[in-house]
Amino acid sequence: MAKMNYQQIVEESPTGIYVEQEGRILFANQRFAHMHGYTVDEVIGMEKQQLLCPEVTQTGEGPDTEKGSRQGESRALKKDGECIWVKESSCEIAYGGKPAVLGNVMDITEMKNREEELKQFLYAVSHDLQNPIVAIQGFAGRLKKKKSQDLGEKGLQYVEHIYTSACQMQQLVSDLLTLSRLGRMKLEYEEADLNSVLKEVMSDLGDPIRESGIKIDVTSNLPVVRCDRTKIYQVFQNLLTNAIKYTRDSPHPEVVIGHETNHSGHRFYVKDNGIGIDTRNQDRIFDMLTRANGAEQREGTGLGLSIVRKIVKGHGGDVGVNSEKGKGATFYFTLPK
Ligand code: ADP
Repeated sequence: MAKMNYQQIVEESPTGIYVEQEGRILFANQRFAHMHGYTVDEVIGMEKQQLLCPEVTQTGEGPDTEKGSRQGESRALKKDGECIWVKESSCEIAYGGKPAVLGNVMDITEMKNREEELKQFLYAVSHDLQNPIVAIQGFAGRLKKKKSQDLGEKGLQYVEHIYTSACQMQQLVSDLLTLSRLGRMKLEYEEADLNSVLKEVMSDLGDPIRESGIKIDVTSNLPVVRCDRTKIYQVFQNLLTNAIKYTRDSPHPEVVIGHETNHSGHRFYVKDNGIGIDTRNQDRIFDMLTRANGAEQREGTGLGLSIVRKIVKGHGGDVGVNSEKGKGATFYFTLPK
């Protein structure tokens, strides 16, 4: 086999590659230099800081599982002053006997622009759909109430269908709007007592809880956490609404809410003894508009868990589920300390 030419491999790479030591660029391939509007000779020796957009926007996830490795999206600065979006993964290496950082960078500006267009489109569509849906709902409701005599049995059935469908559509549009607003809004952090948040959620869900006859047990005193209170309210509300919805037909419906805290953060769980979710579908249910088997007979939009995931990820936490079909489900989310 021909001797491998590492320089050629690095130059052919579809990503920008660089080595940074003591804050300066020590090595860069052509793609990295051109991505920032420089030649390789110009970029070598520059401070890495000079290649970052002054308006710092980072969505870093690192440090990662492997020692010192990081991954995230950020804004980079080009020679002509333009800011671009980049996705970067980096790790610590030793270079010339000293610690350094090896980075791999991809220009994702076009993808980000398209994503932004889509977000705006989603917001505009869901916003503009609200009024006509409310009108359909309102007029169908009035027909039902005031003209039921004139409508006859069949006519009344049709109006009932229109009304129920409009209500479903209204919920869908409202959830879409919530999702699209979440992408635009900043989190408003405060010290929030999650006991009082949960109490509020349970009191606001009074009717569904009473009607389902469900037993709800809160096993531990929840902590005070620095978070966006309104958004975490929504997380508990969505998880509890689901627990009720997918458990209410069980012989002894029961939901347990609790938490554990360790050095890195808090882990909250909502455990039910309802219909459960088969293992095949467990990863997908957090995606938009995805519903698992068994959900068809229950009202819903398939957006509640996407909202939960977006809020929790926005706080730097994680979400997940442990479940088996027919054996209940335990949803959990973490919040960093
Ligand atoms: P939906 O409006 O359909 O409840 P969600 O996004 O909240 O939408 O949930 C997505 C899917 O995950 C649901 O359709 C259901 O299949 C499943 N699911 C969510 N919570 C539970 C639960 N507690 N028990 C069983 N299945 C659940």
